[in-house]
Amino acid sequence: MKGLIVVDVQQDFCPGGSLATGDGDKIIPVINKLMDKFGFVLASKDWHPEKTVHFEKWPVHCVRGTTGADFHKALQSEKITEVALKGTGNSDDGYNAFEATNLDVNHQLHRKGIDEVYVCGIATEYCVKATALAARQAGFKTFLVTDAISAVESKPGDAEEALKAMKENGIALVKSGEI
Ligand SMILES: [Zn+2]
Repeated sequence: MKGLIVVDVQQDFCPGGSLATGDGDKIIPVINKLMDKFGFVLASKDWHPEKTVHFEKWPVHCVRGTTGADFHKALQSEKITEVALKGTGNSDDGYNAFEATNLDVNHQLHRKGIDEVYVCGIATEYCVKATALAARQAGFKTFLVTDAISAVESKPGDAEEALKAMKENGIALVKSGEI
């Protein structure tokens, strides 16, 4: 059975947010449609404390309980089955959804009989990549939905490099229309 992981579609990662990707909001309609194709949708959230070593590397973002940490308002969050909170400690980055502290993501996926994991969301070269690699490593057949991801691209070419790394690690690239 297939399951969808929607990574970090939060206000702070979308235009207007403190760590915005260029077009984070443009993928939301695609994700809204994509969620209809899955019986199980797990959405991760960056859920940081106010003080964390993570903010030595990044501008302050997605502090738990703030509006920046909310799902983007255009995301149809009623379609989400489970929310996974990550980066909740003051010494971890929490780049991948499998590091969630409120729920055991790996166990949850197995419990639902899921063997194929599809990954979409923000940001391509950080949390999306880390989540896809973790899914693969946990033994799931893993797919990246390439028209439902958005990159930070602090360096041009970062996103492309991330796609390459995922492909090399056995992750299949698909378009939402092919699912
Ligand atoms: Zn973060």
